[in-house]
Amino acid sequence: MNDAERRARHAHLVEADHRHLWHPFTQMQDWLGEEPLVVDAADGVHLVDTLGNRYLDGVSSLWCNVHGHRVPEIDAAVKDQLTRVAHTTLLGLASTASIECAEELLRWTPKGLTRVFFSDAGATAVEIALKMAFQHHQLRGDAGRTQFVALRGAYHGDTIGSVSLGGMELFHRIFRPLLFDVHHAPQPYCYRCPLGKRLPECDLACAGEVEKIFEAHGKKVAALVMEPVVQGADGMITQPPGYVRRMREICDRHGALLVCDEVATGFGRTGKMFAVEHDGVLPDLMTVAKGISGGYLPLAATLTTERVFESFLGPFESQRTFFHGHTYTGNPLACAAAVASMKLFRDKRIVEALPGKAAALARALEPARVHPRVGDIRQRGLMVGIELVRDRSTREEYPFELRMGHRVCMAARKKGAILRPLGNVVVLMPPLAMTEPQLEALAGIALACIEEVTATP
Ligand code: PLP
Repeated sequence: MNDAERRARHAHLVEADHRHLWHPFTQMQDWLGEEPLVVDAADGVHLVDTLGNRYLDGVSSLWCNVHGHRVPEIDAAVKDQLTRVAHTTLLGLASTASIECAEELLRWTPKGLTRVFFSDAGATAVEIALKMAFQHHQLRGDAGRTQFVALRGAYHGDTIGSVSLGGMELFHRIFRPLLFDVHHAPQPYCYRCPLGKRLPECDLACAGEVEKIFEAHGKKVAALVMEPVVQGADGMITQPPGYVRRMREICDRHGALLVCDEVATGFGRTGKMFAVEHDGVLPDLMTVAKGISGGYLPLAATLTTERVFESFLGPFESQRTFFHGHTYTGNPLACAAAVASMKLFRDKRIVEALPGKAAALARALEPARVHPRVGDIRQRGLMVGIELVRDRSTREEYPFELRMGHRVCMAARKKGAILRPLGNVVVLMPPLAMTEPQLEALAGIALACIEEVTATP
């Protein structure tokens, strides 16, 4: 394709996008007035647009890409699966790829999780977890356990059940009349502690607030649902060590289930294969999606223990069945990609390399720790949130309408990196495959753009 052809193709695609598409989490009025970057291809940890420009994929194509793009082993596994079958249902039938995927997944997940229920998105995995938790108590004769506890600032996806659990005012308040009530506890957000306390003197007072909710309502609570270690979508809010363990203990004391949503944190992002490993916690239910397929295809899973699974067993006429399913549940192509991705974790010793990479990224971000417009840098493994502030000493936030995070990310494109902000937080969530020099380059671009954008009032 020559340059003129390339430009003509690009112009057509932009025009067609503007005419037909409705993009998620996007003010379309703004979108229609801007020329979008159109991704056409990818190669390793780089995305390539329709004009031939290359960008570091700094947020792993929305937190899911793991080994880079066009990974020969995953490509081959998907192609091989295509020679057999692309899709077949798990309703009333089993399939080779879903069985192999479940077996492989359970080799990696915390011991004690033994059952895998497949779906196709993080939100559906959470929806399934909450329905399973609810029905589990109903089936055990504990019919009063109909309530849920979650954290403020939580994000569990965009279906109505997961939005009910969610605690992000901006995204969720419009839907309030449609949602069921959930007890939301103060989040462990140390930089802006909702209780006005400080670590370590606070002795995790925020966990004490969760305990208070349970003391008041414990007998009615079916489950506590949480993102372990990092609340991603609210701005990479990192939890103090021991917080997840405290949540486990509270649930145990009050007979509630613990649901850990590892959709964002799973598959190595926090430096361990799963974030619950930091505190050595076994949840009763765990949700995974995003990185499960290496970021290739839509796949999610809700994992649980034999104890929860067994409460659903009974003769057909007992109607203890879990009446839930999705058409693409356990899709074989996605499962084949997932098996190949998990094999790469083993063959390339991906998790073992993470401490070195996380340390390199932290070192590269070090200069920003004293930047007058950077209030906080939160990092667990390769999940990073850089919180921009108008005034470092008062921690004054930039007003919403200034879109500071967005402006930094737009500037980053000109320097060859794709970033996506969360309000005033600049997020870095690179594929685990990024090399140390690539991580340093990504951090360098982010810092240069923060400098550039915040220099103008
Ligand atoms: N749970 C968590 C913790 C997430 O971060 C997300 C997405 O960012 C979801 C659930 C929803 O996943 P999906 O977008 O695949 O529905």
